[in-house]
Amino acid sequence: MTEKFDVIIVGAGPGGSAAAYSLAKKSFNVLILERGKYPGAKNVMGGRMYAHAMNRLIPEFWKEAPVERMVTREKLTFLCNKASVTLDFQDEDIREPPNSFTILRAKFDQWFANKAVEAGATLVPNIRVDDLLWKEKKVAGIVSGEDKIEANVVIVADGAVSLMSEKAGLKKFEVKQFALGMKEIIELPEKTIEDRFNLAHEDGAAQLFVGQCTKDIPGGGFIYTNKTSLSVGIVLYIDRLIEKKIDSHEIIREFNENPVVAKLIEGGKILEYSAHVIPETSRSGLFTDGMLVVGDAGGLVVNSGITLRGMDMAIASGAAAAEAVKKAMEKNDFSKESLSYYEYLLKKDFVLKDIATFKKAPEFLHNDRLYTLYPEVACRLFHNLTIVDGAKKRAFDELLEVTKGNRTKMIFDLLGGLKAL
Ligand SMILES: Cc1cc2nc3c(=O)[nH]c(=O)nc-3n(C[C@H](O)[C@H](O)[C@H](O)COP(=O)(O)OP(=O)(O)OC[C@H]3O[C@@H](n4cnc5c(N)ncnc54)[C@H](O)[C@@H]3O)c2cc1C
Repeated sequence: MTEKFDVIIVGAGPGGSAAAYSLAKKSFNVLILERGKYPGAKNVMGGRMYAHAMNRLIPEFWKEAPVERMVTREKLTFLCNKASVTLDFQDEDIREPPNSFTILRAKFDQWFANKAVEAGATLVPNIRVDDLLWKEKKVAGIVSGEDKIEANVVIVADGAVSLMSEKAGLKKFEVKQFALGMKEIIELPEKTIEDRFNLAHEDGAAQLFVGQCTKDIPGGGFIYTNKTSLSVGIVLYIDRLIEKKIDSHEIIREFNENPVVAKLIEGGKILEYSAHVIPETSRSGLFTDGMLVVGDAGGLVVNSGITLRGMDMAIASGAAAAEAVKKAMEKNDFSKESLSYYEYLLKKDFVLKDIATFKKAPEFLHNDRLYTLYPEVACRLFHNLTIVDGAKKRAFDELLEVTKGNRTKMIFDLLGGLKAL
C-alpha cells in the first residue's frame, strides 16, 4: 500500500473498532490492521460487557449485535473446601436500560469491526504490525514486514502487552502490573443453563467466586452464562502466581472440581481454552506526536473486585481518540500538544474519572485475607447458624466466635475496603 491514510489503527479489538467506527462515521480515511485471521480470533474475555459505552456509540446495539444474554442475576460466592455462601442479587431495574450482556468475543469483535467497515473503514486482518514508522522523531505510520504505511495519526489499540506503546517509549512491560485471566467455554444445552442458574428464558447470570479457588493467590473465579455455553475462568495476580510456583492449569482444574462449580458445569463439553493478561496497574502514556493509545494498551481497565471493566473503557477511549483526531485534523496539527485533547476528553468522561476513583483498588485487592480469612469466616458463621445440635448461641455470639483473634485486622480491612472500593 502506498496510499497515506488519515488514521491507521493497530488492533481490531473493541478499542480499535470503536475508534475506526467513529472516525469512518466522520468520513476519515481509516485503515485497521489486525493480526488475527479475523477480529476476535485471538481475543479472550470473561464474557460480560457493560452496555453503556457501546449504547452511546450505537444506540440499542443489542437489537443487532451478537449478544448472548442480558445479565439480570448477579451472584457472589465465598468458596470453602466443603461449604459455600452465596449472595444472590436480582433487580428488574437493571433491564432498562440493560446494564450488561454476556458476549463471545469471536462473534462480537467480528460484528463490531464490520460495523466500522460498513461505515467506510478499511480492515485488513491477518497482518501483524511490527513497528512504528518515524519521521523527524514523530510517529508517521506503521511498519509491517517490508511494508511501510503512512498516516497522520496512528491509534494504538493492540491490547494489554502493547508492543507499540513500548516502542513509542510510553510504557515498560513489568509482570507485576498485570493479572492473568484464564477462560474455558463449556457447552451446555440452553434449558440446562436456565435451570441451573434459575433464569427466565434468555436472561443471564454472572457469578463471581472468592476463596478456595485460587490456592490463596489474590484473584477469583467467574462463570458467565451464554446462550448455549458457560464462560468459566479465573483471574489471578501474575507476580503471586510466579512466586508460589503453581501451574495455572492446576488452578482452573481445581476450580472446576470444586463441588459448587462442578454441579454448575456437569455434563458440559469444553469447546475452547484461552489465557491472556489484564492490566492492573500498568497505566501508560496515552499520547505522543502522531500517536494515541486506547483500551488495554493504555492500561485503561478498572477492577473493583465486583466489576471488571475493560471493554466499556476500551470503547469509550476509542471514541474519544476519534474525537481528538477530528480536532487535530481541523487544525492540521498532530503534535502531542494538539493530541493531548484526548486525555482531556478521557478526564471529562468516565474513563479517567473511574480509574481515579478506583486507584487504590489493586493494592487493596492484593490483601490475602480477602481470599482466605473472609470466605472461611462466612462459611463457618453460616455453618454454626444453621446446625442445631443442642447448644445454640445467638447470631451475634457466633459472629464474635468466628472472628476471634482477627477483629482488629478485619476493622482495618473494612476501612481500607470502604476507601478503595
Ligand atoms: C480472562 C479475561 C476476562 C475478562 N473479563 C472481562 C469482562 O468480563 N468484562 C470486561 O469489560 N473486560 C474483561 N476483560 C478485559 C477485556 O478483555 C479487555 O479490557 C478488552 O478486550 C480491551 O480491549 P482492547 O481493544 O483494548 O484490546 P484487545 O481486546 O486485547 O484487542 C487488541 C487487538 O489487537 C490485536 N493486535 C495486537 N497486537 C497487534 C499487532 N502487532 N498488529 C496487529 N494487531 C495486533 C489483537 O489481535 C487484538 O485483536 C477480561 C480479560 C480477560 C483476559
